[in-house]
Amino acid sequence: MKRNLDVPWSYSGTNGPEYWHTLCDWYAEGAQFAYQSPIAITSGETLAGTKKHRLTFSYQVEKFTEKEFKNTIHFVPFDCQSYVLFEGEKYGLTDIHYHLPSEHILDNQQAPLEIHLVHMKKDGTNLVVGVLCDILPGVLPDGPLKQAQRWDLKAHIEVFNPNLFLPTEKSYFHYVGSLTTPPTKGPINWFVFKARHQISRAFLSQFQEEILKGNNRPLQEKKGRPIYFCE
Ligand SMILES: [Zn+2]
Repeated sequence: MKRNLDVPWSYSGTNGPEYWHTLCDWYAEGAQFAYQSPIAITSGETLAGTKKHRLTFSYQVEKFTEKEFKNTIHFVPFDCQSYVLFEGEKYGLTDIHYHLPSEHILDNQQAPLEIHLVHMKKDGTNLVVGVLCDILPGVLPDGPLKQAQRWDLKAHIEVFNPNLFLPTEKSYFHYVGSLTTPPTKGPINWFVFKARHQISRAFLSQFQEEILKGNNRPLQEKKGRPIYFCE
């Protein structure tokens, strides 16, 4: 049996999303999880989140390197110092990447971009934070490029606080789903911010944005699963 890294997959053609589960046993296993992601979220259909659904961010300035793999660009921290707390447990930030256009749909709206902040608990369980973004022309005065303490793509070293990828308005939706890329395994605790964030065109164009377009998995069935909204 081939393992993940040996098996190429893409967003179209014979190894596109509808065939991912046929490409190897590992992908087949992940696809068996009933509650897949992404989904369409409708504000009016959500339940009120309680204390139990709260996510606490503890992000700090740290060093990242950027790499291209799995059909997108990733920012990977060296020391994994930033984390979130959920249900009393710590999930370290392990990876930041993005999809063009957005994978989640909020109130029938697809955003031009979605950032995923991937976290991991000690036992390997993932928790993902999704941020839908608009792409604004030019360089934002308070955009990532300006906020980063050091942003050196030539040296593949970036020093920044990952909270620059979060919107100011912190209300979010929470539901249980899967990874949106092979092996699409679950359960994954998802947190999708309601407010859109802004990323500048100048920032994105550094990452050969054009080769990434269309790296969004199609919507998956909700199957009646609860979606909570936390203000
Ligand atoms: Zn993703």
